[in-house]
Amino acid sequence: MKYQRSSALFVEAQKVIPGGVNSPVRAFKAVGGDPIFVEKAQGAYLYDVDGNKLIDYINSWGPMILGHAYAPVVNAVVEKAKKGTSFGMPTKIETDIAELAVSMVPNIDKIRFVNSGTEACMSAVRLARGFTGKDKIIKFAGCYHGHSDSFLIQAGSGAVTFGTPNSPGVTEGTAKDTLLATYNDLDNVAQLISANQNEIACIIIEPVAGNMGCIPPTTGFLEGLRELCDKNNILLIFDEVMTGFRLAPGGAQELFGVKADIVTFGKVIGGGLPVGAFAARSEIMDYLAPIGPVYQAGTLSGNPLAMAAGLAMLNELNKNRNIFESINKKTEYLHNGLDRVLSAENVKFTINRIGSMISVHFSENKVVDFNSAAEGNNDNFKKFFHGMLDEGIYIAPSAFETWFLCDALTYEDLDQTIEACAKVAKKLK
Ligand SMILES: *Cc1c(COP(=O)(O)O)cnc(C)c1O
Repeated sequence: MKYQRSSALFVEAQKVIPGGVNSPVRAFKAVGGDPIFVEKAQGAYLYDVDGNKLIDYINSWGPMILGHAYAPVVNAVVEKAKKGTSFGMPTKIETDIAELAVSMVPNIDKIRFVNSGTEACMSAVRLARGFTGKDKIIKFAGCYHGHSDSFLIQAGSGAVTFGTPNSPGVTEGTAKDTLLATYNDLDNVAQLISANQNEIACIIIEPVAGNMGCIPPTTGFLEGLRELCDKNNILLIFDEVMTGFRLAPGGAQELFGVKADIVTFGKVIGGGLPVGAFAARSEIMDYLAPIGPVYQAGTLSGNPLAMAAGLAMLNELNKNRNIFESINKKTEYLHNGLDRVLSAENVKFTINRIGSMISVHFSENKVVDFNSAAEGNNDNFKKFFHGMLDEGIYIAPSAFETWFLCDALTYEDLDQTIEACAKVAKKLK
């Protein structure tokens, strides 16, 4: 495959945009080479500026669960745009999507819309702090909750108590309020809580981690967090930016039967437009301005185009609930196929899958947390990524990302992907 035009456009982009991209993971830093510039997309396929057709396993990092340019979503946006694109005043469609979201997701009474998952998680933590009157938060190593300051904290060997910032620009003061825990390790969380009695406002977690590859929670882990939170007057925040409206109509809360106190959304809820949201029971949500003391706002929040896309998307998922089963079956089929062809080549690998999230870790050990995810063979991943790309299969350009399937994928697409993997596997160690 040729990528000349993409490479030429990347040269131009780098002159005026830092690194040539508006979000770092789009640059192929982890795999080498130049990023692909997209011309258009339809259903399960991307068409790049060099005329290549690719089967897409990223789907805009999750939102396009029904495939690209899905007609009901596109039509809703086009019709809305004709009536004006932003007013900064209330519109009925905001209530319509709020009612639908609240009806689909368990355990929430009210929801507020923002413009990104980052904003949703940042606001959820502020709300949790305001509501509990406590400052510290617990997050898990390897979980991503957007790029606001409190979340850009990673584990160092001495970080059992206090995290250290892993980006310049995040102050020590902010970092000290973020405590780092190990995913799927309840004892570790219990220790953090007892070392910081009455100081922890909330635990924020991806109920299925997707930002260190796909890592599902081990049996009892989420239930255990719920218990620890109840005993210690801590709010449990499920960051469902990836899992919301993907793992089930009601997200991970529904799938696992575990209640969160605050839930954050992004990705699917916006149907491909910039939308995030956070939701909780009334008692908590009413702590927000204008009726409560915790401030939170947005000029473009609840934007009519964004709400039209989100509402059309949620309507489709709500009406056609068999979509979830259909997409899960496709993912299982892909899992079995990849497993078969990788095993045939004696490659060391582990596949994690839940619902329509799946990832191939090039490690023979179980991948259950950040450290086990980091053990993967990155040389193999790079070869795998570029090999698949040359076969017309687009997966995330990083070993630490889950794949997201869309329901537009056909079984022929999946067979083509498995055949591509069989070829590429021969080049791996
Ligand atoms: C993508 C993501 C975010 C951030 O959302 P943005 O819209 O990129 O700001 C937060 N949490 C999780 C779990 C995500 O996957």
